[in-house]
Amino acid sequence: MPFKRDVHASSVYKEPAPIRDHENPFEAMVDRFDVAAQILELDPGFYEYLITPTRIHITAIPVVMDTGRIKVYTGYRVIHNDILGPSKGGIRYSLDVNLPEVKALAAWMTWKCAVVNVPFGGAKGGVTCNPREMSAGELERLTRRYTSNLIDVFGPDKDIPAPDMNTNAQTMAWILDTYSMHAKRTENAVVTGKPIKLGGSLGRREATGRGVMTTALAGMDRLGMRVPQSTVAVQGFGNVGSVAAQLMAEQGCKIVAVSDVSGGYHNANGIDITKALEYSEKNGYSLEGFDGAESITNDELLALEVDILAPCAMEDQITSRNAESVKAKIIVEGANGPTTPKADAILKDRGVMVIPDILANAGGVTVSYFEWVQDRQGYFWSIDRVNRRLDRMMRIAFDSVFDVAHQHDVTLRIGAYVDAIKKVADALKLRGIYA
Ligand code: GLU
Repeated sequence: MPFKRDVHASSVYKEPAPIRDHENPFEAMVDRFDVAAQILELDPGFYEYLITPTRIHITAIPVVMDTGRIKVYTGYRVIHNDILGPSKGGIRYSLDVNLPEVKALAAWMTWKCAVVNVPFGGAKGGVTCNPREMSAGELERLTRRYTSNLIDVFGPDKDIPAPDMNTNAQTMAWILDTYSMHAKRTENAVVTGKPIKLGGSLGRREATGRGVMTTALAGMDRLGMRVPQSTVAVQGFGNVGSVAAQLMAEQGCKIVAVSDVSGGYHNANGIDITKALEYSEKNGYSLEGFDGAESITNDELLALEVDILAPCAMEDQITSRNAESVKAKIIVEGANGPTTPKADAILKDRGVMVIPDILANAGGVTVSYFEWVQDRQGYFWSIDRVNRRLDRMMRIAFDSVFDVAHQHDVTLRIGAYVDAIKKVADALKLRGIYA
């Protein structure tokens, strides 16, 4: 009989959940949560509290398009919880944006912040739209109206957006400006990942990719793997994947494959990442036609004979359908939710080390935290200070997740959940329930 989750039952997480694939991402989050909750023997009331989003905002966003026609988009902002501090998380623009996805991403932000010891809660936002088909003016109007609709939600002490899929420093600048116009003062700590000239932090753009590199190296260390000439395949060549590829190449790894929406590119002798970046920039952020490598499919990229596979694109890429064919020794998840729970089980049996998203890609929110601290102090750090502190926090988080996983004989993913949930549950216990 399938496990029926009943949040009111005292044995709520005692039965193992069925292992899932291609489910809604929030369910995938809860599946992992269940396993961790069982290990922690979490109080059923805490269980219910911690899986339930604190606030869900859904808002209609009318935009006057360049043609003069009005189009109405749907925008979301989910505050998963703010037990550890103001809620924090990116905003994505994509046709795939929907409520279960935003809820999952918001919860992952809560666990991510806890894993790296950043004093924030978790949130996520998004608008269901195709930004590739929108002009800069349309995107600006969409962003400003989304912001003004959610003006009471955002705030440097309340909820702080950042870039995510298809949003960037310019998007944050529009949010900053719209928020500041309403507040009648410039409030640069209301967003992170903004342009340096508006109070952004050095190193923020590269931070997620840098964290992917740091945790991949930490994983290699634990497995006794040598960095020079280790082969790497990176799925996704956006802000996370391209930086991770470049930084891993700088460390001496050989990047043999990369991909973007136009397809995969493979060169067994190593791809010149600087050239690939230059090409992509000139070519409207697409690698289409890049001649430094041969074309391969996405599935071929995931199945390459490499030491490290870094999925840095989007959810549900490694599933029960293709997990058997993964040959990498380490998967380092630059994207949020790239591996399904069913694939996790297959990879575990096959002895693949998966450095989970809530650890591997937490570099972004870590430097977002540094940015927020700098904005509030009005004192800005050197790039060396940012990178040193980031590397230290990522290393500490990796070691603590590794130890928890070892202690309970579970995967690094479950170790990360146990570590994160315990920190948030301990804080909740201290705060108590306001009646
Ligand atoms: N969007 C990024 C993430 O998923 C960064 C969030 C932030 O910096 O607030 O981790």
